Amino acid sequence: MNSPHERRKLPSRLADSALTTATDSASKSFDYTPDAMMPDVKVFKVGGQSIMDRGREAVFPILDELVAAKDDHKLLLCCGGGTRARHVYAVASDLELPTGLLAALGGYVPRQNARMLQMLLAKHGGIYIMNDDFEKLPLYFRLGCIPIMTGMPPFGYWEKPSEGGRIPENRTDAGVFLTAEALGVKRAIFIKDEAGLFEDDPKKNKAAKHIPRITASELEKSDLPDMIVERVVVTYLQRARFCTELQIINGLERGMITRALKGEDVGTIITAK
Ligand code: ADP
Ligand code: MG
Repeated sequence: MNSPHERRKLPSRLADSALTTATDSASKSFDYTPDAMMPDVKVFKVGGQSIMDRGREAVFPILDELVAAKDDHKLLLCCGGGTRARHVYAVASDLELPTGLLAALGGYVPRQNARMLQMLLAKHGGIYIMNDDFEKLPLYFRLGCIPIMTGMPPFGYWEKPSEGGRIPENRTDAGVFLTAEALGVKRAIFIKDEAGLFEDDPKKNKAAKHIPRITASELEKSDLPDMIVERVVVTYLQRARFCTELQIINGLERGMITRALKGEDVGTIITAK
């Protein structure tokens, strides 16, 4: 019989070394395919500056398209922040406040946008959820709801220090990717106001060429002057176990959401490999 002391020994692959060295060797032994929690959820970002800030003209047709699809798909909507978030970043960084506070302050704006979308979608089952309500998603989908949440990852004060400035690097694009990765969803769909990724910002450079498909490493190498998604997302994509594709579509063009939901490669697809 085990002594009481032995009984307290819980077998653990990671018990005998510091986690700093153990994580690598442990992950190498992941020879099984990890189980995706909710792979059939369609994770959408509704752009802040690109969509919400444009008001009804942009938002209403997008909501119509999403509502028309809601009985055929499990839609999870994540909101961006936009100009109000940029304003608070500008004021707070001028006041030399730290990145963590900027992330906490910037986090209020996508929540405001999510609350507005929830009210607009209330009669169609729009329901506002918190970042840690993922465990309730199966219930909400069964009830025919459209869960809506902030796209901002909940790092807040614990946001990582940024390179070369105070603006938090993990903003709502990062949060949407991390949501899809956590739920086990292969493709995260970003609704913005351009037909995807171009070689340069098409608003500033009309001659910029559209990129229909690119890998994350090609994109990093190409070092574009400006990007349609937060740069950290391209880095994270290469470490993904589930969310290995980002799709960026133009929500101002009717039908794009429906086509993306059918699995068509409209817009731009950025792939992990
Ligand atoms: P969101 O509303 O989701 O926060 P952003 O406004 O941050 O979206 O990003 C979308 C904008 O990025 C587009 O309106 C576009 O003008 C700009 N942009 C910058 N660089 C590029 C690029 N290389 N390709 C396409 N769009 C770009
Ligand atoms: Mg943005």
